[in-house]
Order: sequence, then C-alpha cells, then structure tokens
Amino acid sequence: MANILETAPHDWKYVSEGGATIVFSYTRSAHSDFDGMVLRLRKISLKKSATEGPDNACGEEPDDPTIEYQTKCMQGLIPPEHLPRLQTVHLDRSWLEELSRLHNSTRPENRRAKDEIDLKRKKGVLATDLVGGNWLAVEIKPKWAFLPSPIHLSEETRSIKTQTCRFCMHSHLRARGSQEEITNYCPLDLFSGDKTRILKAIHDLWDAWVASNATVNNLKIFARGKFVTPSEAHVMLSENEAAGEEFSVIRDAFASALVEPLLRTPVLHILSDLQRDLDALDIEGLSRLWRLTESSAILNQTNPSQASESVPTSTPLGVTSRCIQAPDPTISDWIDFVHNYSSPDKPTLDHSNPSPDHLRYYILAYLLSATFKDCSVIVKLDFLQSCTTASNVTPNSVTVIDLDPKKVDKLKDWEKLDQEIVRTYASANKKTCIDAWKSPNTT
Ligand SMILES: [Zn+2]
Repeated sequence: MANILETAPHDWKYVSEGGATIVFSYTRSAHSDFDGMVLRLRKISLKKSATEGPDNACGEEPDDPTIEYQTKCMQGLIPPEHLPRLQTVHLDRSWLEELSRLHNSTRPENRRAKDEIDLKRKKGVLATDLVGGNWLAVEIKPKWAFLPSPIHLSEETRSIKTQTCRFCMHSHLRARGSQEEITNYCPLDLFSGDKTRILKAIHDLWDAWVASNATVNNLKIFARGKFVTPSEAHVMLSENEAAGEEFSVIRDAFASALVEPLLRTPVLHILSDLQRDLDALDIEGLSRLWRLTESSAILNQTNPSQASESVPTSTPLGVTSRCIQAPDPTISDWIDFVHNYSSPDKPTLDHSNPSPDHLRYYILAYLLSATFKDCSVIVKLDFLQSCTTASNVTPNSVTVIDLDPKKVDKLKDWEKLDQEIVRTYASANKKTCIDAWKSPNTT
C-alpha cells in the first residue's frame, strides 16, 4: 500500500470537495505511486470533530467502501478501462494537519465554516487524476437513459411517463420551485447513438451551462485542472487559436470535439442498458411488489383470531417492519448480486408478473440502477480548434465516475418524489422524448 509520508503536503493542490470528501491532486512527478493521481480524504463536521476524542478506536480501519464496491462489483459491469484506478493509501495525522494548515484557506468559505479534513483517518483513497492534466476534461452527468415499460404503471401515470422522460419531467418540477430556466437537455438524445441527436444534447447542455453560469450539475468543464466558467470559455481553445474567437465558435468547436468520443465509446450504451434492465418494474411496480410481499407475509404469519388487530397499515417501500425485512446490502451481498446478474446462465425472471420470492432481487437491482442513473462520465479532450480536426480518441478518453452504492432507505423518498414529479407534470405542456432503444413490444 502506498504511503503518503513519501510525499510532502505542499506537493498537493486543492481541487474540489463534496459533502463528505475533499480532493487534492499531486503536482509533482517525483513518485510513481502518486504521479497522475488525486487523493480523496474524508471530512468531518467541525461540531463532531470538537466533541470527539483525539484519536479513534483501536483496531484496523476498514478500506473505504467505494474501493471495494468499484473493484469487486463495478468491474463486473463496466469494462475496467472505463473506470478510474483506485487504491487505498495510508495516512498520518501530522501529515494531514500540515496539509490542512497549508490548504484550508483555498477552500470555499461556506465549506470551511462547516467541516474540515478528518485528521483521525488512517486511510484515504488514491484515484486516477482525470481532470488535472494538460487537457480539457468534460464531466457530464447524463441521468435517466430510458422511458419505462408501461406494464407496471398506473392508469394516471402511464400516458405521461411513457411520453416524457424522467429527467425532463424533473427539470420541469425544479424550474417551477425555483423559477430557474428549464434546460432543453434530454438524456434520451445523448443516449440515442445518433450523431445529430447527440450534437443537440451537447448544445443543450452547453446552453444550460451558459444560462446558469456553470452552476447546473449536468455539465462541468475543466481546463488543466481548473474549473471553467462561461466568461473564461476561451481557455478551452488551443494556443494557436485567436483568443478573440466568437463565443458561438467555441460552442461549435466544443460540440464537434465532444460528439466523436461520445459516439464511439461503448460507455453510454452500457449505462443505458444497465439502467433499463435493472429497473424493470419502475418504482411503481416495485412498490406494488413490496405491498404484495407484505400482505402475503401477514397472511402466512398472523394467527387468524388476531388478524384484524395486528395487520399493520402498509409499510413504506424499503422500510423494515415486523413482516418484511429490507436490510442495506453488505458488500458481499453486492458481490453476489453482480456475480449472479452477470452470469450467462442466470434464471430469467418474468418481469411482467414479479413474484414476492424475488423482492430482494428487485430491490437490489433498483438500487444498482439508481447508481447508474446518478453517475457521471468524464471525457478527456484536446484543446479546441475552431476548424476541427478529428480528436485523438482512445478507450480511456471516457471514464465513469461517482459509482457509489445507494441505500435502501432512499426508496421511500424516491417513491414520493416520483409521485410529485408526475403529479406536477400532469398539468404541463407535455414534451415528447424519444427512446431510441425501447424494445418494440413494450410500447
Ligand atoms: Zn427527455
């Protein structure tokens, strides 16, 4: 395992952070374990940090679950050349203190007010640095790739959900709540495999990026590791290009450069297949199967004389009760699931008539589908030329990131959100989204 003490804290540069983790990139090329890598560290809230003791409990700290989930599960579903390289690295408290002292002032103020690097951690994650090198990195969060099969949809939702994709309906809801502009981006264009439609998706993503001043989370652009905003778009041009290029020229050059890797990579098709196949019932069908399983458990378990008083009202989807268990999958549950799912001789389930015996399968499948609905794709591009020449596309030009396991207790929230999205959209002017991969017998 690589040891962080072989590098100096000032050899690392602050890159970005999310709710739970903070990322630094290695800026030297002096150590083969760290060259071209980023270090992801866990954070802790200032409040919690102040109330906890100086060091955590004895015993070996487990590896970050992301590593196991990715190396043991995701590699069975996505070709490894499209996944970042991840490994565990040993940390050291005084090294982390120095890193924090050197870089804390570079962090956004609102983040600094809330949390800090967790100095008690003994392990961090090293990952391939996808954004920090001498190239453009385009991060797209594509979202839902398909229209659901109508089989398990209710009378009220069927005509809506099979016409407009989930992302477009959700954008409508978000725009209503915040008065923000609706993006025209439709994931079904991006996933279509059709050059004209992929170009349309890229233009729509770009326009939303501009309109929101780079705050939408479906498109992020980095040039040499630096986050780019629309007013700095000229930094995306190669050095021999005139700095005064019109904005529309940059927009077109960006689309022509990005469309090639998106057309050629198998990644989008893989994600779309996985999302669709793993979410065979829609949340509505999953919820119905949950209730059916619960009521058959009650019938089987209850003493008939007590039936009337002990029959509970229906438990929310994914919430463990006396009659139905829904523990979070452990890493070994996930490994078994992916192993069985990828096996060529797995039993075929009748999704049109799902059995309570297979409830656990459908729950894990839905959670895994949600991981693929929420992941991002990073595309590595050369700096832009206004007269586009074919970009140098290699398999590792496209990498899937943010593949984290989802928790069972999200299911009830997703069911509620689904109802709210469709209810709100029922009165909207309905957009028609075209699902290029829909099988003809599910229309
Ligand atoms: Zn759509």
